[in-house]
Amino acid sequence: MRAIVSLNSGSSSIKFAVFALDADNRPHHTAGGKFERIGIAPSLVIRTDAGEVLEERAWDDGAALTHADLLEYLFDWARAHIAQGTILAIGHRVVHGGSSFVAPRRVDDALLDELESLCPLAPLHQPHNLAAIRSLARLAPEQPQVACFDTAFHHAMPPLATRFAIPRELHERGLRRYGFHGLSYEYVAQELARIAPALARGRVIAAHLGNGASMCAMLDGLSVDTTMGFTALDGLVMGTRCGTLDPGLVLHLQTQEHMAPDAIEDMLYRRSGLLGVSGISSDVRALREDGSAAATEALELFASRAAREAAGLLPALGGLDAMVFTAGIGENDPAMRAAICQRLAWLGIEIDPAANVANAPLISTPDSRVALRIVPTDEERMIALHTLHALNGTAHKGQAPEGEL
Ligand code: ADP
Repeated sequence: MRAIVSLNSGSSSIKFAVFALDADNRPHHTAGGKFERIGIAPSLVIRTDAGEVLEERAWDDGAALTHADLLEYLFDWARAHIAQGTILAIGHRVVHGGSSFVAPRRVDDALLDELESLCPLAPLHQPHNLAAIRSLARLAPEQPQVACFDTAFHHAMPPLATRFAIPRELHERGLRRYGFHGLSYEYVAQELARIAPALARGRVIAAHLGNGASMCAMLDGLSVDTTMGFTALDGLVMGTRCGTLDPGLVLHLQTQEHMAPDAIEDMLYRRSGLLGVSGISSDVRALREDGSAAATEALELFASRAAREAAGLLPALGGLDAMVFTAGIGENDPAMRAAICQRLAWLGIEIDPAANVANAPLISTPDSRVALRIVPTDEERMIALHTLHALNGTAHKGQAPEGEL
């Protein structure tokens, strides 16, 4: 068997997937899993595509186990699991590619050093993405690794969408809007092209609503605007991130409240969003179960700001043909989808309550002027496709995700 391993390494979790290549170099998902609660009491589950559990472990006293320790465990498992085969390459999600990296790249020391310099722009993700690459390079120096950037998909945005209204020279130094969740949007765009090709050619808002949340305006499958900007803090309310904020508030915290920069960073990235507003949890399921006034207010703020951000993307599209929901909340939380759509009903959006509650692929009524769809995202597959192409020195240009490579 020849295989590609995709890795998505976060602060307290590592998601991964193994894709076997058939004779035509088409990737087939064979197994995937997740380490969770890293730094507290790590656990691991690996399942086959059919849902059969291949490996399940919990390290109850494993608070000291590092990402590197767990990756070593995973790498040993992968080498044993892909017994007669070869891991052709390991592909990584790397959140920030800055201005320079607009396509997936084979990893070498020079690339890692450049990507390291972008860590302050994505402190929640980038250090973990890069640490995973470095750990694997130490374990298996001969193993090709490929970095796939979450910013790359938005490189198609018109120049105006990349600008902040700040002095010109700062823009030239890279202080501009980049946009994130690009691997997810690229996958969703390709899936939509497969499922509903006419819609995919139209004016689409894709809403990636997970712990991190953003929206992307797409014309003919390409990003023309997005809600995240210079960092992954901007735009929607998120699990623990604040979303759009008056920058004057940050200045106030510095000058009047005398908060240190790292304390402000901690507040904006880790103690805000649903967690900050509710004071209870960053997790939508927990907030729905809780049902308190504060939990309800946090969920309402999420929906209201999401509708506002969606409306803000409309001028870039000149109208709306479809809205596509994806990621944990987008795929699984009917109440949040309904709350967002109700706030956008004036656009002629009509959600079908029964289809919505069933998490059906099409959740709009036949009369709705805007098609509403759920498209489950698969960033790991997108990483595998890009990794293969980077290995072969070709660009992955919009094939359907199961398509010929
Ligand atoms: P990440 O950005 O970490 O990949 P996910 O895409 O897994 O995040 O999304 C996590 C969010 O999705 C959490 O708020 C979680 O509560 C929510 N979620 C997941 N499953 C459900 C569900 N069945 N119902 C409601 N919310 C859900």
